Amino acid sequence: MTAKPTLTVLAGPTAVGKGTVCQYIREHYPQVWFSVSATTREPRPGEEEGVHYYFVSMDEFDRMIDEGQMLEYAVVHGKNKYGTPRTKVQQALDAGRPVILEIDLQGARQIRKSMPQAQLVFLAPPSWEELVSRLTGRGTESEQEQQRRLETAKVELAAESEFDVTVVNDTVERAAHEIAQLIGAEPAQ
Ligand code: 5GP
Repeated sequence: MTAKPTLTVLAGPTAVGKGTVCQYIREHYPQVWFSVSATTREPRPGEEEGVHYYFVSMDEFDRMIDEGQMLEYAVVHGKNKYGTPRTKVQQALDAGRPVILEIDLQGARQIRKSMPQAQLVFLAPPSWEELVSRLTGRGTESEQEQQRRLETAKVELAAESEFDVTVVNDTVERAAHEIAQLIGAEPAQ
């Protein structure tokens, strides 16, 4: 049996449904460990500190960078900073758990350089039209913010070939099982 890569980066354009796919994996493959990122953005309704993100100030975030605590970080959508705290990822890897980083393209490129053994998975929408409809239908961002995110999405879609494998998010369940297989995770009994 070949050893599966233990660190997987899951990236893809905004509103492709990364969050929903990850939630499905969380529920059905509990041995998978998801990194919780730090961010300077404001929490959305229902988001919890330490569960969805660590919500920090810009000063706190910059201090974490200066102290070498970030495995990778990026300014996303030209606005807020997002980053992966290094120590917790290392602890999960040391414990032998498959780790998923749900991060943006810039972060994926940094991980490619710093951890070349990581597997890069691109989650793609079935079509551009479907992506636009998912983003506008979500209703959580202002029109201006939606436009900004669609611009980012175009850039992100163009980077698909940099990834090791593409998974199409046609249905959440199918995409989640395909990703689980790629990382060698077994469903919970
Ligand atoms: P949202 O604001 O919708 O939660 O996330 C916006 C974007 O930030 C998503 O594309 C998400 O993948 C990305 N992101 C979340 N956490 C991180 C992180 O730790 N590092 C990087 N580079 N991107 C992140």
